[in-house]
Amino acid sequence: MKIRLAGEMTTDSVVDGEGIRSVIWCQGCIHNCPGCHNPETHSFSAGFLKDVSEVLKEISELEFQDGITLSGGDPLCQIDACLEIAKFTQELGLNVWCYTGYKMEELLKRCEKENKLKDLLLNIDVLVDSPFILELKSYEVPFRGSKNQRLINAKESVKQNKIILYKD
Ligand code: SF4
Repeated sequence: MKIRLAGEMTTDSVVDGEGIRSVIWCQGCIHNCPGCHNPETHSFSAGFLKDVSEVLKEISELEFQDGITLSGGDPLCQIDACLEIAKFTQELGLNVWCYTGYKMEELLKRCEKENKLKDLLLNIDVLVDSPFILELKSYEVPFRGSKNQRLINAKESVKQNKIILYKD
């Protein structure tokens, strides 16, 4: 299986979630949020394809990282590949954060029919959800770009079929 990436994995990030993190930059996003920080990651034909097995190998060789962050682009546009990565990461004892432009309400509805999406969310510790809204841009909301975006406990939200915040 292959994943379309915008760039190689970066390590030692302290701005893409709590702790010291390695970031996987997924290529492709449908949301087109005005003011998006990474417009070059929107196209589904740009970037490059990489074997998921190679990504897993890189993750297994990481040192001194608290977790992996799936960013982009929108990782939830590549559910199969991100599911493999998130599962593998959790098995290693590392936590998983994921950024998405989808709202959790919509994702929970889709989970009723989409088993792989449900499985992926069950392997994500913190989901940073919702599109970036330029008018609500803020530097006061940690790890988010705009005030409408939330830090969601994805696993518990799926288990309880309602939105459970990780923290405000
Ligand atoms: S969801 Fe994220 S990557 Fe996609 S357009 Fe919005 S801000 Fe940009």
